[in-house]
Amino acid sequence: MTARIIDGKAAAATLRTEVAVEVARFTAATGRAPGLAVVLVGEDPASAVYVRNKGIATREAGMLSFEHKLDAETTSQADLLALVDRLNADPAVDGILVQLPLPPQMDADAILTRIDPDKDVDGFHPVNAGRLATGLPGFVPCTPYGCLLLLRAELGNLSGKSAVVIGRSNIVGKPMAMLLLADSCTVTIAHSRTKDLPAVVRQADIVVAAVGRAEMVKGDWLKPGAIVIDVGINRVPASEPGKTRLVGDVDFASASQVASAITPVPGGVGPMTIACLIRNTLVSAARRENFKLENPL
Ligand code: NDP
Repeated sequence: MTARIIDGKAAAATLRTEVAVEVARFTAATGRAPGLAVVLVGEDPASAVYVRNKGIATREAGMLSFEHKLDAETTSQADLLALVDRLNADPAVDGILVQLPLPPQMDADAILTRIDPDKDVDGFHPVNAGRLATGLPGFVPCTPYGCLLLLRAELGNLSGKSAVVIGRSNIVGKPMAMLLLADSCTVTIAHSRTKDLPAVVRQADIVVAAVGRAEMVKGDWLKPGAIVIDVGINRVPASEPGKTRLVGDVDFASASQVASAITPVPGGVGPMTIACLIRNTLVSAARRENFKLENPL
């Protein structure tokens, strides 16, 4: 079997266009565009690229992007908390995102829990984790939500499918498992202490790998016909000396011989993350203005 490649880039482009259509309706009806505030502390190059791409996607969707770039040396925890308080109170701001990782002298949990849960478009606030776990409307972290949209597009109804999520982080693994459960999958969460991981994975119709270990999941771990969502982003040496390339947590070459569909890295889950961020920002704006979206997205 050769797996179908799930084109996350194309799915993300479609979602971004759908968001832009709703943003135009929202702006015409309310007289203001939805706004996303992104806070970056320090010079981490990968974070700077993420923040730039988020700004581009926000503006392309017709929304306002408020970018706050702070110096890691001179910004204190109190300064950052004060900025979050100002953004919480700012009526033009519908979504607030503090780019992680924060410098080591800052308490990331204290900062993230200071964000108003109703502007927490990253979905990391414990209130939103609780809402997701109990089936209340809130914000779902963007990466797992993007994975769910790809799975729904692939399978339609997920009800009754057996799903294994490898990884139990608060950002990806746990919310992914909650979303699959809400869609009536039978869910197993695997982690570094799981015994005989290949045997666990072999039970699954759906495998979501969010581990951070290059090409760990092999083709012979998979049930024939499984659908594989590879969240991992790992940089490994390329064949050319001195160069690197990105690979996922799944060994694409062997897995694509056994799975029925698989996301590539890059071009799979990654583009969906940003699309879901602007989707969440629009949803926040619509909730705050009591505006009904035509497309539930
Ligand atoms: P974390 O490091 O927070 O979590 C990794 C998880 O993998 C942990 O639960 C850990 O288990 C588990 N794990 C580690 N080693 C093994 C192993 N040998 N067998 C089974 N499980 C193992 O990572 P994140 O969840 O933040 O990210 C996971 C990956 O997804 C990374 O590659 C990251 O770069 C990528 N990512 C991609 C995004 C995108 O937009 N595409 C967004 C976010 C992340 P334990 O809890 O027991 O330690």
